Amino acid sequence: MSPRPLFLLFATTAVACGGAARTATSTASHPASVAECCLDLGRRVAAEHRVAAIDVRRFSQPQYWSAIEPFLTSPSLRVTPVGASTHGLPLRAITFGRGPTTVFLWSQMHGDESTATMALADLMSWMSRAASERDPVRDRIASQLTVVMLPMLNPDGAELFQRENAVGVDINRDVRRLATAEARTLRAVRDSIKPAFGFNLHDQNARTIGRPGNQRVAIALLAPAAEATNAFGAVRSDARLVAARIRSVLEREIPGRIARYDDTFNPRAFGDLMQSWGTRLVLIESGALPNDPEKQQLRRVNVIAILSALDAIATGGYRTENADTYTAMPVNSGSAVDVVIRGAAVVMPGQSPVRVDLSFNYDDPLRGGRARVREIGDLDEVTAFDTVDAAGLFLHPAPAMLTESRGALWLRIGAPVQMTLRRGADAASEVVREFGARP
Ligand SMILES: [Zn+2]
Repeated sequence: MSPRPLFLLFATTAVACGGAARTATSTASHPASVAECCLDLGRRVAAEHRVAAIDVRRFSQPQYWSAIEPFLTSPSLRVTPVGASTHGLPLRAITFGRGPTTVFLWSQMHGDESTATMALADLMSWMSRAASERDPVRDRIASQLTVVMLPMLNPDGAELFQRENAVGVDINRDVRRLATAEARTLRAVRDSIKPAFGFNLHDQNARTIGRPGNQRVAIALLAPAAEATNAFGAVRSDARLVAARIRSVLEREIPGRIARYDDTFNPRAFGDLMQSWGTRLVLIESGALPNDPEKQQLRRVNVIAILSALDAIATGGYRTENADTYTAMPVNSGSAVDVVIRGAAVVMPGQSPVRVDLSFNYDDPLRGGRARVREIGDLDEVTAFDTVDAAGLFLHPAPAMLTESRGALWLRIGAPVQMTLRRGADAASEVVREFGARP
């Protein structure tokens, strides 16, 4: 089960060592132009190297490996078996480059968080051309870095598109006990290659908003705390600059939609512990973008982010970033609701209308469709992605939305949304708008 000897395959390329890891010296004196390179190049890689066989956010591990198979024959990529999932699906690392600085990226340790896994496929396609085509950025990454990618760490979870693994464990809370095969694999790869830099690639709640600004967060970044005091030591400070570089580039792609993730130290989580073990660790969380139900736009944003970070590490250009670029980011601040209807009078049969606000969420925050009531009452402090001003109007729940008992009716939290906004309390008055399935 523990293919430890296989890790020796990394040994020839992994000379970096924990907190004392050597990193590439800076060769770039124009940080702006370096950033420029990676925004345009990232867009181009995302478009020209998009692995078309993966085009929705839910896919299985066999589908993924068959999609990237064509690139893995490239002499520029090395595939290393590193373990197996609980159900025996193979876990493999793909390595690019032979440089002195080792960078480790792993994705989808939560099975329903696949955005970065898609982006890694596109990047592997681009990397696979290194032997046949010259590209200054790619050549620089290949000569300065050894990039080890472990996509879809939790293939059993991905099979059901769920967060946890096959025995219900959240792998990102298993760093201390290492009870799961997947966590043991992640720890073993980390110990084998001792990466100087690491990227922990996730998707966060699609309804998360950043404050100030109250915008839906597309990308949240974090240089996780390495200790409960939340201090910025040398390792975390470097990670902060890498995150700052990612923000600098992405602000020109998705302005105002980047935030900082909660930085409370979590001793059960891999990112936090890796930072304490000396790897400069950046967490990248994909949230959501408008009109991007399968996260294909966010996939492009991930390609730009990862490429920008790799290049900044290869050139040493991240050191020219300002810590304030990281510190001054908006912060993840809870969730918005999908829709709030403000100031409508709810019309219940046989009762006087009650003037309230009503919020509801779609079952799928990305695709919309079926929705359920979330809260009714004074929702002045609630932030919504879509606000309907219904002052002076009347909200008529359809019978199917109401619960009946002994001849009386209830409007309950969680009820399936099926209602009509009308001009009057009369059920025949003019319709302003319908919500949910038509009565
Ligand atoms: Zn996650």
